[in-house]
Amino acid sequence: MSNAALLCIPERWRLAHLNYAAAHGYFWIPCPLCGYEFGGHEWRHIDGKRAEVYLNPAEPATGTAICPPCTRAGKGEEPPGVTDLICFCAECVRRRDRNGIKAEWAP
Ligand SMILES: [Zn+2]
Ligand SMILES: [Zn+2]
Repeated sequence: MSNAALLCIPERWRLAHLNYAAAHGYFWIPCPLCGYEFGGHEWRHIDGKRAEVYLNPAEPATGTAICPPCTRAGKGEEPPGVTDLICFCAECVRRRDRNGIKAEWAP
């Protein structure tokens, strides 16, 4: 799945994101830090700040994460021992390219 399409949905269009999450099997949950509801396709690292995510790569819809505003505010960190995150932020794409790692699924 291309990440480009969903990035065209402005973050403030919450209903569009809710529909996108429902249509593609992503979770839709309140952020555990602030209660802002968001979809599993929306979490990402922002400006090098870490999103805090707990995803099952085989079943992304079952995970949890913190919302983009909290990530942007620098509230996230990667939980210890979590190694299967597939993030499509520029930083992570570059790191995978450098290491020759192929992403299997898109958040
Ligand atoms: Zn939040
Ligand atoms: Zn990332």
